[in-house]
Amino acid sequence: MDALFDKRYLCELCGVEFTNKKIRRSQIKVKTIDSDFYTEYAGENPNYYLVKVCPYCGYSWSDFSSPLKSSEKEGLKAFLKETPPDENFSGARDPATAEKVFLYALKIAEWRKEKPQALGNLSLQISWIHRFLKNEEKEKEYLEKALEHFLNFYQTADNIVNVGKTMFILGELYRRLGKKDEALKWYARIVSDEKVTDQNIIRAARKQWQGLRM
Ligand SMILES: [Zn+2]
Repeated sequence: MDALFDKRYLCELCGVEFTNKKIRRSQIKVKTIDSDFYTEYAGENPNYYLVKVCPYCGYSWSDFSSPLKSSEKEGLKAFLKETPPDENFSGARDPATAEKVFLYALKIAEWRKEKPQALGNLSLQISWIHRFLKNEEKEKEYLEKALEHFLNFYQTADNIVNVGKTMFILGELYRRLGKKDEALKWYARIVSDEKVTDQNIIRAARKQWQGLRM
Protein backbone atom coordinates (compact mmCIF):
# COMPACT_ATOMS: atom_id res chain seq x y z
CA MET A 1 0.00 0.00 0.00
CA ASP A 2 1.25 3.47 -0.84
CA ALA A 3 2.28 5.27 2.36
CA LEU A 4 0.93 8.57 1.01
CA PHE A 5 -2.63 9.50 0.16
CA ASP A 6 -4.37 12.66 -1.04
CA LYS A 7 -6.07 14.42 1.83
CA ARG A 8 -8.67 17.05 1.10
CA TYR A 9 -8.42 20.47 2.70
CA LEU A 10 -10.55 23.58 2.47
CA CYS A 11 -8.38 26.66 2.03
CA GLU A 12 -8.98 29.07 4.91
CA LEU A 13 -8.14 32.01 2.67
CA CYS A 14 -9.70 31.45 -0.78
CA GLY A 15 -12.27 28.83 0.24
CA VAL A 16 -11.33 26.41 -2.57
CA GLU A 17 -10.91 22.71 -1.85
CA PHE A 18 -7.54 21.13 -2.69
CA THR A 19 -5.45 18.09 -1.80
CA ASN A 20 -2.02 17.72 -0.23
CA LYS A 21 -0.32 14.42 0.51
CA LYS A 22 -0.43 12.92 3.97
CA ILE A 23 1.05 9.72 5.38
CA ARG A 24 -1.16 6.86 6.47
CA ARG A 25 -0.80 6.47 10.21
CA SER A 26 -0.05 2.73 9.86
CA GLN A 27 2.86 3.56 7.52
CA ILE A 28 4.75 5.83 9.94
CA LYS A 29 7.87 3.94 10.99
CA VAL A 30 10.03 5.58 13.63
CA LYS A 31 13.72 4.67 13.43
CA THR A 32 15.37 6.84 16.09
CA ILE A 33 14.47 9.80 18.32
CA ASP A 34 17.17 12.31 19.33
CA SER A 35 17.25 14.02 22.73
CA ASP A 36 15.55 17.12 21.26
CA PHE A 37 12.71 14.99 19.82
CA TYR A 38 14.12 15.04 16.28
CA THR A 39 12.85 11.80 14.80
CA GLU A 40 14.21 9.74 11.93
CA TYR A 41 11.82 7.55 10.03
CA ALA A 42 12.21 4.49 7.87
CA GLY A 43 10.43 5.63 4.74
CA GLU A 44 8.34 8.79 4.50
CA ASN A 45 8.76 11.52 7.13
CA PRO A 46 5.32 12.71 8.34
CA ASN A 47 6.80 16.07 9.39
CA TYR A 48 7.36 16.96 5.75
CA TYR A 49 3.59 17.14 5.35
CA LEU A 50 2.79 19.27 8.42
CA VAL A 51 2.45 22.39 6.28
CA LYS A 52 -0.50 22.60 3.92
CA VAL A 53 -0.15 24.80 0.84
CA CYS A 54 -3.16 25.83 -1.23
CA PRO A 55 -2.19 25.56 -4.92
CA TYR A 56 -4.78 28.19 -5.87
CA CYS A 57 -3.97 31.19 -3.69
CA GLY A 58 -0.68 30.06 -2.08
CA TYR A 59 -1.94 30.30 1.50
CA SER A 60 -0.12 27.91 3.79
CA TRP A 61 -0.75 26.81 7.35
CA SER A 62 0.07 24.06 9.84
CA ASP A 63 -0.87 22.93 13.33
CA PHE A 64 1.43 25.69 14.60
CA SER A 65 -0.66 28.44 12.92
CA SER A 66 -3.30 30.56 14.61
CA PRO A 67 -6.75 30.74 12.97
CA LEU A 68 -6.96 33.24 10.14
CA LYS A 69 -8.63 36.52 11.13
CA SER A 70 -10.97 38.17 8.64
CA SER A 71 -9.02 41.43 9.10
CA GLU A 72 -5.90 39.73 7.73
CA LYS A 73 -7.42 38.31 4.56
CA GLU A 74 -7.15 41.19 2.09
CA GLY A 75 -3.58 42.07 3.04
CA LEU A 76 -2.56 38.43 2.95
CA LYS A 77 -4.04 37.91 -0.51
CA ALA A 78 -2.02 40.87 -1.81
CA PHE A 79 1.13 39.57 -0.10
CA LEU A 80 0.69 36.10 -1.63
CA LYS A 81 0.16 37.57 -5.07
CA GLU A 82 3.53 39.29 -4.77
CA THR A 83 5.32 36.27 -3.35
CA PRO A 84 3.60 33.11 -4.61
CA PRO A 85 5.11 29.68 -3.83
CA ASP A 86 7.82 28.59 -6.33
CA GLU A 87 6.02 25.39 -7.13
CA ASN A 88 2.96 23.27 -6.51
CA PHE A 89 3.53 21.43 -3.23
CA SER A 90 0.65 18.97 -3.59
CA GLY A 91 2.88 15.99 -4.46
CA ALA A 92 5.36 13.86 -2.48
CA ARG A 93 7.97 15.92 -0.63
CA ASP A 94 11.65 15.05 -0.38
CA PRO A 95 13.87 16.91 2.15
CA ALA A 96 14.67 19.70 -0.34
CA THR A 97 10.97 20.24 -1.09
CA ALA A 98 10.09 20.05 2.60
CA GLU A 99 12.66 22.77 3.30
CA LYS A 100 11.07 25.02 0.67
CA VAL A 101 7.63 24.37 2.17
CA PHE A 102 8.77 25.26 5.70
CA LEU A 103 10.63 28.38 4.53
CA TYR A 104 7.50 29.46 2.70
CA ALA A 105 5.34 28.76 5.79
CA LEU A 106 7.81 30.75 7.89
CA LYS A 107 7.56 33.71 5.51
CA ILE A 108 3.76 33.72 5.86
CA ALA A 109 3.97 33.22 9.64
CA GLU A 110 6.32 36.21 9.89
CA TRP A 111 4.00 38.34 7.76
CA ARG A 112 1.11 37.36 10.04
CA LYS A 113 3.24 38.15 13.11
CA GLU A 114 2.55 34.70 14.49
CA LYS A 115 3.42 33.88 18.09
CA PRO A 116 7.05 33.02 18.87
CA GLN A 117 6.12 29.40 19.60
CA ALA A 118 4.90 28.96 16.00
CA LEU A 119 8.01 30.63 14.57
CA GLY A 120 10.21 28.53 16.87
CA ASN A 121 8.60 25.27 15.80
CA LEU A 122 8.91 26.10 12.10
CA SER A 123 12.58 27.03 12.57
CA LEU A 124 13.21 23.82 14.51
CA GLN A 125 11.65 21.76 11.72
CA ILE A 126 13.97 23.44 9.19
CA SER A 127 17.03 22.74 11.36
CA TRP A 128 15.99 19.06 11.55
CA ILE A 129 15.82 18.79 7.76
CA HIS A 130 19.42 20.03 7.68
CA ARG A 131 20.41 17.58 10.40
CA PHE A 132 19.05 14.81 8.20
CA LEU A 133 20.96 16.22 5.21
CA LYS A 134 24.09 16.66 7.38
CA ASN A 135 24.33 20.39 6.56
CA GLU A 136 25.77 21.36 9.91
CA GLU A 137 26.07 25.06 9.20
CA LYS A 138 22.47 25.41 8.07
CA GLU A 139 21.27 23.27 10.97
CA LYS A 140 22.97 25.67 13.39
CA GLU A 141 21.59 28.72 11.62
CA TYR A 142 18.03 27.47 12.22
CA LEU A 143 18.77 26.20 15.73
CA GLU A 144 19.82 29.79 16.51
CA LYS A 145 16.56 31.12 15.11
CA ALA A 146 14.55 28.50 17.01
CA LEU A 147 16.38 29.44 20.22
CA GLU A 148 15.58 33.11 19.78
CA HIS A 149 11.87 32.38 19.24
CA PHE A 150 11.55 29.83 22.07
CA LEU A 151 13.29 32.21 24.51
CA ASN A 152 10.86 34.91 23.47
CA PHE A 153 7.99 32.43 23.92
CA TYR A 154 9.17 31.38 27.37
CA GLN A 155 9.59 35.00 28.50
CA THR A 156 6.31 36.36 27.14
CA ALA A 157 3.69 33.57 27.29
CA ASP A 158 1.30 33.70 30.26
CA ASN A 159 0.54 30.05 30.49
CA ILE A 160 2.65 27.39 28.76
CA VAL A 161 0.95 24.00 28.49
CA ASN A 162 4.04 21.87 29.06
CA VAL A 163 6.49 24.40 30.45
CA GLY A 164 9.02 21.65 31.26
CA LYS A 165 9.20 20.62 27.63
CA THR A 166 9.76 24.21 26.50
CA MET A 167 12.53 24.61 29.08
CA PHE A 168 14.05 21.32 27.98
CA ILE A 169 14.06 22.43 24.34
CA LEU A 170 15.85 25.61 25.43
CA GLY A 171 18.48 23.50 27.23
CA GLU A 172 18.88 21.27 24.18
CA LEU A 173 19.18 24.21 21.77
CA TYR A 174 21.93 25.78 23.91
CA ARG A 175 23.72 22.43 24.23
CA ARG A 176 23.62 21.79 20.48
CA LEU A 177 24.91 25.30 19.85
CA GLY A 178 27.87 24.58 22.14
CA LYS A 179 26.71 26.87 24.96
CA LYS A 180 27.28 24.43 27.78
CA ASP A 181 26.81 26.78 30.76
CA GLU A 182 23.47 28.04 29.49
CA ALA A 183 22.33 24.48 28.77
CA LEU A 184 23.25 23.38 32.31
CA LYS A 185 21.26 26.28 33.76
CA TRP A 186 18.09 25.19 31.95
CA TYR A 187 18.44 21.51 32.90
CA ALA A 188 18.97 22.50 36.54
CA ARG A 189 15.97 24.84 36.41
CA ILE A 190 13.71 22.02 35.16
CA VAL A 191 14.67 19.81 38.08
CA SER A 192 14.10 22.52 40.70
CA ASP A 193 11.07 24.36 39.24
CA GLU A 194 7.78 23.41 40.94
CA LYS A 195 5.86 24.26 37.78
CA VAL A 196 7.47 21.33 36.01
CA THR A 197 5.50 18.17 36.69
CA ASP A 198 6.33 16.01 33.67
CA GLN A 199 8.45 13.21 35.17
CA ASN A 200 9.84 12.11 31.80
CA ILE A 201 11.15 15.61 31.18
CA ILE A 202 12.64 15.83 34.68
CA ARG A 203 14.44 12.51 34.12
CA ALA A 204 15.68 13.60 30.70
CA ALA A 205 16.94 16.92 32.12
CA ARG A 206 18.83 15.09 34.89
CA LYS A 207 20.43 12.78 32.36
CA GLN A 208 21.50 15.65 30.08
CA TRP A 209 22.80 17.63 33.06
CA GLN A 210 24.94 14.68 34.19
CA GLY A 211 26.15 14.04 30.65
CA LEU A 212 27.33 17.64 30.30
CA ARG A 213 29.02 17.70 33.71
CA MET A 214 31.21 14.69 32.89
ZN1 LIG B 1 -6.38 29.10 -1.23
